[in-house]
Amino acid sequence: MTPTRAAEQQEERAHRLEQEFQAVLDAAVDAVVLFDHEGRIELLNRAGERMFGYHEQEVIGLRVNLLLPEPYRSQQDDYLRHHIEAGEPRIIGIGRELLAKRRDGSEFSAELAVGRVQGTDPPRFVGFIRDVTVRRNSEEALRRSEAQLTIAQEIANLGNYVVHLDSNCEDYWSPHLYRVLGRRYGDLYIGVYDYLEPMVHPADRVRWQQARRALDTQGRSMDIEYRVIHPDGSLRHVHHIAQVSRALDGRIVRQVGTLHDITDRRRAEDDARQMQDRIAHFGRISTMGEMAAGLAHEVNQPLTAIATYAQACQRLIASEHASSDDIATALDHICTQALRAGEVIRRLRQFVKNREVRRELLDANRLLDDVLVLAQTDLRHHGVRIVVEHAPRSFPVQADAVQIQQVILNLVRNSIDAMLDLPETHREILLRARMDGEGDVELMVADRGTGVDVAAAAALFDPFFTTKSGGTGLGLSISRSIVRAHGGKLWCSANPGGGACFFFTLPVVPAPAGS
Ligand code: ADP
Repeated sequence: MTPTRAAEQQEERAHRLEQEFQAVLDAAVDAVVLFDHEGRIELLNRAGERMFGYHEQEVIGLRVNLLLPEPYRSQQDDYLRHHIEAGEPRIIGIGRELLAKRRDGSEFSAELAVGRVQGTDPPRFVGFIRDVTVRRNSEEALRRSEAQLTIAQEIANLGNYVVHLDSNCEDYWSPHLYRVLGRRYGDLYIGVYDYLEPMVHPADRVRWQQARRALDTQGRSMDIEYRVIHPDGSLRHVHHIAQVSRALDGRIVRQVGTLHDITDRRRAEDDARQMQDRIAHFGRISTMGEMAAGLAHEVNQPLTAIATYAQACQRLIASEHASSDDIATALDHICTQALRAGEVIRRLRQFVKNREVRRELLDANRLLDDVLVLAQTDLRHHGVRIVVEHAPRSFPVQADAVQIQQVILNLVRNSIDAMLDLPETHREILLRARMDGEGDVELMVADRGTGVDVAAAAALFDPFFTTKSGGTGLGLSISRSIVRAHGGKLWCSANPGGGACFFFTLPVVPAPAGS
């Protein structure tokens, strides 16, 4: 090959290389800027033009620090000088985050890497600038939403976790989950469930284990409330919800759950329940107070009878003709009457006793019968007849017997009060139990009294609403809260034949399958 041909080929190659280099520069996503030892720009690629808003020709020969705002602008000069004077590699090859400045003065987050072009003297440099605004913004958004989530979890006192079952990924515990479990952030390195299990209150553990087994083996969602004992010995109530995520082939790959500390809510509920029980107790006592006259009469009757039989005994013993059979009969009567008085007192004591609320399976018809025993005294005393219509069959309800008796007794007493102006022959109450259209037990107390104004009917249930001179206005409001606590409703309507009908419902407990 002739020397001319070789030179031509070399020139062709150099030209091709330059074209390829230009193509690479044009295709680059990052801005590329070439500058000399004094920091004067020699080249700015297309991406650089777009990123900074300059044409290459405008910036050639200008200082590269034009692309940076203060304080980076001055620092850049220092870095370059240091590098050249002391061969210090501070900027060379190191990507650092800083702010860059567009032609219009606006600034953006950028990542900068500068390299020295090998074999150049005086040295020349190439800078790569990447616009990281989007990444920065999404990092910032992520950081913000994580911070917000943490705050929300703190406010709600709720923590969450993720357990990975198909990979070696570590379980995720949200920062607040540690607090819910009484630990300091980050001081646990075992599985969520392994940590939780011994913490669960022994009385709740079997239920917890069953729920966990159903989650693990069948993927059935967990939704339970239970108590946990914190490392410091304190007792907390938590609401635990967990669900599984499956892969396309149905395998369970993840469990995701939340633990919500509901202790405060539970305590407030307990306080409210205790308060309600106290009010109900007060209501029973005041009912007894109102019934006192009738009750005194009820107890007085057997006492009078006892006194009479006792006097008869004395007479028999004093007489010479009395047989021991006569005396025994009189003593039998004394016993019966004493038992009768005792029974009235026993029932009363049970009714007014301050006691724990106990829910048990009761038959609706039995409830009516039991309350009749208590109401009978008052009814008799006021000359009121009562007709009882039992449900055609027995309906089991889950209820506190004394509280439901209290409701019925309140309604019966109100009916008595509403009929006092009627002649005795018209004073009649209908007490009825039946199943309503929704499958609940419906109890009704209907009278022929003054009746209620339908417009004012809602106010009847407000505490302290009374139209009676000696009334407390608490009976109906206590009764409604008792019925609601049992899952039922209490309302009133006009009796078509005059008077008022009060109804309340109690949910029927479904009979066990196969019974
Ligand atoms: P109190 O009996 O102490 O007044 P309640 O809450 O039991 O308190 O009743 C509130 C009011 O509702 C009564 O004062 C009365 O005006 C009205 N009321 C309740 N039951 C009846 C009824 N069967 N007939 C007419 N009015 C009634």
